[in-house]
Amino acid sequence: MKRILRIGIMGGTFDPIHRGHVGVAKQVKERFQLDQVLFIPTGDPHFKQGMTSASPQDRLVMTQLAIRDIDGFIASDMEVCREGVTYSVDTLEELSRLHPNDSFFFILASDAATQLHRWYRVERLAQLCDFIVVSRPGYPFDEALIHNLGLVPGLRYVLLDGLSYDVSSTGLREALAAGESVEDWLDPAVAEYIRSHGLYVGHESDGRS
Ligand code: NAP
Repeated sequence: MKRILRIGIMGGTFDPIHRGHVGVAKQVKERFQLDQVLFIPTGDPHFKQGMTSASPQDRLVMTQLAIRDIDGFIASDMEVCREGVTYSVDTLEELSRLHPNDSFFFILASDAATQLHRWYRVERLAQLCDFIVVSRPGYPFDEALIHNLGLVPGLRYVLLDGLSYDVSSTGLREALAAGESVEDWLDPAVAEYIRSHGLYVGHESDGRS
């Protein structure tokens, strides 16, 4: 009989993907004994329509480059290829159809998790996966977060502290635009892709994380 797979879902805009994303996913994979982690760059994110800097295709390629040699890490184009606004519930419905016997674990940062109760069809989403909420510097597990998570009926979640890295894609975009070196935070192949495609040059802060 086929073994049930434990599959992590690492969704994000990945604009650009950095060592913080990959480092968190590696630690979660080990702690939760996940068989795979699917990195799914968003297409047109629900709360950020038209706000990303690099194109979905560029964000997908950078994601592929960043995880290319890591065992069990897979980049998925399913949201980039989907027409219209990206909703996680559509992604999990599709994954559940493709892998009806497997278990899904959605890895989410604490800042994004405070808004989870506002996500499209979140009750259905909560039936399709467990959530692993990872704290992010500046976004502790506070009362507001616990309260908001409690607003989602049937939500199964765990809070994981102390895994995150003090880095953000916003900070990297700003540093790149200012011509500063951010090599420490990027896979060399991602850094080269950004350079050769002229990404994030002259980008102005948009105030988002
Ligand atoms: P985001 O801006 O890329 O991420 C939000 C925060 O989490 C940022 O601090 C980000 O750091 C960090 N991060 C990104 N991916 C992470 C991950 N997988 N684990 C831990 N930290 C992570 O993305 P977002 O727009 O909030 O979306 C995150 C996921 O939630 C995506 O899969 C998105 O489709 C989903 N989402 C769904 C809905 C909906 O269905 N209605 C609404 C909102 C979000 P960096 O800035 O350094 O990347």
